[in-house]
Amino acid sequence: MKKILEVKNLEVVFDTYAGEVQAVRDISFDLYEGETLAIVGESGSGKSVTAKSLMRLNPEPPVKYKGGQILFNGKDILNTSEKEMQKIRGSQIGMIFQDPMTSLNPTMTVGKQIMEGLKRHQKIDGATAKEKALEMLKLVQIPNPEQRFNEYPHQFSGGMRQRAMIAIALVCNPQILIADEPTTALDVTIQAQILDLMRDLQKKINTSIILITHDLGVVAHSAQRIIVMYGGKIVESGTTDEIFYHSKHPYTWGLLKSVPRLDLRKENGKLDSIEGTPPDLLAPPKGCPFADRCEHAMEICRKQMPPQFKTGENQYSACWLNHELAPKVENPTEIAK
Ligand code: SF4
Ligand code: MG
Repeated sequence: MKKILEVKNLEVVFDTYAGEVQAVRDISFDLYEGETLAIVGESGSGKSVTAKSLMRLNPEPPVKYKGGQILFNGKDILNTSEKEMQKIRGSQIGMIFQDPMTSLNPTMTVGKQIMEGLKRHQKIDGATAKEKALEMLKLVQIPNPEQRFNEYPHQFSGGMRQRAMIAIALVCNPQILIADEPTTALDVTIQAQILDLMRDLQKKINTSIILITHDLGVVAHSAQRIIVMYGGKIVESGTTDEIFYHSKHPYTWGLLKSVPRLDLRKENGKLDSIEGTPPDLLAPPKGCPFADRCEHAMEICRKQMPPQFKTGENQYSACWLNHELAPKVENPTEIAK
């Protein structure tokens, strides 16, 4: 598979009155053509800042890119002019957000908003743009596209608005679609429909998708690979199977325990949540960022940052438990096969 995005040693900070918040700390990952890569973590883990960095959408200042590279088709996004970025945004990398109401223009019909991107990025006439916009409304399965074309966002339901956002994001055939919590504001049934739609679309148009979410449950059927972020670091990465069934990181175990799964249902029917709070990124710990919340923490965990241990064919886990001299700890979520 062709690599279309390469993030190398990315470091992103926020300048605040209290000091420098180290939001993203030396992370590296790749994105391949046609795949869905999920970035999972709690709020404050650095996942949204990472996603926005890929399009340079973080406000600069206060955000500063302190180090690393983001190579998109070999070109470093971090060394790209704002003018050039405006061409890339929307045409080569598209983005959808949690709340479509804040990113849709309430005073413009949905059809016009889909046509906007086309007109901005491609030299096509009005009639062709309209035809293409109607085609997009059909593609995202909005019923009665001709009528819907002339309606305003407030006339759409939440799920329909998210479909319209997807149509806008995909109209120029971007190579990458970044979806930041695209279903969080929707109820469960609609959530499933939107995820199904994204899966379908990906097969049809072969866009790579980066799916950002705090909910591992959302990615089980959508992503081929998963990156787990915590405290500005990537703590584990691997294929969806590796992460769901053979995770080697206690933080991932905690996330998995908070996903409803029939085979792991607790007697009281309650799901576990992870106790405690994430580390203060104004003064991040020099060792494992999860140490304060980890029931398996050892002396070395607080002293030294765990390296990325290779724990599976495509899996890496930044946890000292994977060191050959560490005590053996069972993954509590692993299913006996
Ligand atoms: Fe827990 Fe240590 Fe592993 Fe961090 S490195 S997750 S503290 S066992
Ligand atoms: Mg976020």
